[in-house]
Amino acid sequence: MHRVALVARHVLTPSLFFRRQMSMEPGAAINRVRESGLLKTQGLIGGKWIDAYDGKTIEVQNPATGDIVTSVAYMGKKETTDAISSAYNTFNSWSKHTASERSKCLRKWYDLMISHKEELALLMTLEQGKPLKEALGEVAYGAGFIEFFAEEAKRIYGDIIPATLADRRLFVLKQPVGVVGAITPWNFPLAMITRKVGPALACGCTVVVKPSEYTPLTALAAAELSLQAGIPPGVLNVVVGNASDIGDTLLQSTKVRKITFTGSTAVGKKLLAGSANTVKRISLELGGNAPCIVFDDADLDVAVKGALAAKFRNSGQTCVCANRILVQEGIYEKFANAFAKAVQNLHVGNGLVEGIAQGPLINEAAVEKVEKFIKDATSKGANVILGGRRHSLGMTFYEPTVLGNVNDEMLVSREEVFGPVAPLLRFKTEEDAIHIANDTNAGLAAYIFTTSIPRSWRVTEALEYGLVGVNEGLISTEVAPFGGFKQSGLGREGSKYGIDEYLELKYVCLGNMKEAYTK
Ligand code: ADP
Repeated sequence: MHRVALVARHVLTPSLFFRRQMSMEPGAAINRVRESGLLKTQGLIGGKWIDAYDGKTIEVQNPATGDIVTSVAYMGKKETTDAISSAYNTFNSWSKHTASERSKCLRKWYDLMISHKEELALLMTLEQGKPLKEALGEVAYGAGFIEFFAEEAKRIYGDIIPATLADRRLFVLKQPVGVVGAITPWNFPLAMITRKVGPALACGCTVVVKPSEYTPLTALAAAELSLQAGIPPGVLNVVVGNASDIGDTLLQSTKVRKITFTGSTAVGKKLLAGSANTVKRISLELGGNAPCIVFDDADLDVAVKGALAAKFRNSGQTCVCANRILVQEGIYEKFANAFAKAVQNLHVGNGLVEGIAQGPLINEAAVEKVEKFIKDATSKGANVILGGRRHSLGMTFYEPTVLGNVNDEMLVSREEVFGPVAPLLRFKTEEDAIHIANDTNAGLAAYIFTTSIPRSWRVTEALEYGLVGVNEGLISTEVAPFGGFKQSGLGREGSKYGIDEYLELKYVCLGNMKEAYTK
């Protein structure tokens, strides 16, 4: 998915105050967010902040400390029904705003996100665990979608088709699909929302967002900024709470015309099936199993840097993280040594502390999954080159790990590990690498490292993946299409292509025009 602080286009410079305070205690961080007015704990329906109707709440935990950051409303069917009605009732007026008016609102929202980048980043680190620098990178990346689609809003053109009969004129109008239900995950608490809401609002759609129950605070803070930006009440609604109740309500409603989802393949398949009954449009951005192929002719430094970035961003918790590092036999030993050395330098700890490169995993289940995959691999002949244990910090911290001699029968290369584990697989020929890379139901991101231009083209064309990084490990940007082949998803997000997901095409035939042309 998604870029970090290293990304060139949107590097944010923290304020002097913030730079001095780059290491912050969680208590000070939460106070800073509270003072800014961005610590929201209720859902947003029709422009009003609202508790769950039965008063239920759910705790948001800091994965680095186990402390409760705060509690938020735990909503369900009734609140979701009201949020849908609010979005439905607002659709008529919002879709009739001019593109320029919608664009200005989005631009203002972008400006507010950037001026509150530090509070948003602090919230993100508190609830998600990613290092503050990475969180700042995500704010830049996430806000970038709003900026991009603010501009794109003004460029939604239709078409005129040359008519087949002299007295007719044929047109194609592009119109917003209507109310959108957006369900998002915890690993990118801001960017996965803005990537959906940006194009939806640009087109004139209204939205009900359901953020992850692990990371609702960033979403709610962003929603507060949308109100401050003048986005009318009811255009953006946020419900937090029971995932299946909220999901089912969105699916069953005939008022909701589109579902857009980022998350696990299992939930994505449920939503795809659940959309059938009301024949909703659906976009899915699901799991990956990214191969990172290092050929003998690769530049070793470039390959190590690229693989490191592609594997360890967000502690390995992204769907474009390199899941399998395929290394050609001639460079295998050299690469394994240099890569392990680089991994050893990654500092693990609380993301609020300066210099930390690896935060905690999101929860205990995530650590247990990592442990299970490593046990499976070592029982089948893999060796631990580095790490392979829980970190001495406890909690959900795990040592950045490199496994050698992995083969394609091990769980770690069949499924997404979603943790800081880099499995190295040895291969002989280019054909072998392509075969191993494509031998999966996933098809989101792939990376190749080679200095041969012909090979880079050959392999890129053969890979069954929606995104390919050539000699680069960080490739996501709001200006390029993001999405997968095979079971990694449906549709594309970001870029000019991403806007089509929120538009209907209407063909208009203007007939009986003879008179108009003979007068
Ligand atoms: P992950 O394993 O990355 O948390 P999930 O697919 O479980 O991925 O979660 C992604 C999003 O989907 C979250 O907002 C989660 O609450 C939501 N979700 C989980 N189960 C359902 C469901 N049955 N219906 C709708 N949304 C769901």
